[in-house]
Amino acid sequence: MGENTNSKAFDYIKENLKIINENIAQASQVAGRDMNDIRLMAVTKNIEAEKINFVLDQGVSLIGENRVQEFVAKYDQIDFNKCKAHFIGHLQTNKVRQIVGRVDMIQSVDSLKIAKEIGKRSLNHSKNTKILLEVNIGGEASKFGFAPEELIEKVYEISEIQGLEISGLMSLVPISENKKELRKYFSDLNRLFIDISSKKIDNVSMEILSMGMSGDYYEAILEGSNLIRVGSSIFAKREN
Ligand SMILES: *Cc1c(COP(=O)(O)O)cnc(C)c1O
Repeated sequence: MGENTNSKAFDYIKENLKIINENIAQASQVAGRDMNDIRLMAVTKNIEAEKINFVLDQGVSLIGENRVQEFVAKYDQIDFNKCKAHFIGHLQTNKVRQIVGRVDMIQSVDSLKIAKEIGKRSLNHSKNTKILLEVNIGGEASKFGFAPEELIEKVYEISEIQGLEISGLMSLVPISENKKELRKYFSDLNRLFIDISSKKIDNVSMEILSMGMSGDYYEAILEGSNLIRVGSSIFAKREN
């Protein structure tokens, strides 16, 4: 065991990232898009800081966490000179205070109540927090987010809240093996995104369409995603 034990031990992560970047390049090419327009987020839930910092050394510059307690516990060990962090999990009102100021964006705003709390806490920090509105595109009971039918109305309401900037949409689509069905969910999201963007609402800039995870980021890119959130495909050792 030499000095480079850890980097060797994490070689599979390097390999995983290489494959993901190739897939991003391929999907972009098929879609006629510039691959540089697609941001790769490493979803670092359940991942220890040492591995997170390894991924940052490989050039990943955005991480996503979905549990407040875990994120706060790891916070001081993560090299934030190399990355930004977004919060991507369901938030409870009493936890918002611990997240505002520690992240660059909260992607998982799923109620008016949570938006108001983020606004209030941001004003205490004298800075706006960028948020995405989460959309429950499949209408699943197990998922959070606004129904597509209520989204526009919520955008208007939330855009009035001080301390916030609406920067786009985020979604987790239903799990499916059917690529056509997946693409339909993603294209429906893209349509909502374009629709809201065209309304030119004050305090709303539709810059980020966060959709696609390990199992479906290829289809998401084909349908317009510009931020993919990838966890297991980066961090899991593959069986050969
Ligand atoms: C865990 C998680 C992901 C990543 O999921 P993988 O399938 O592991 O890539 C993406 N988005 C959210 C909100 C998550 O909680």
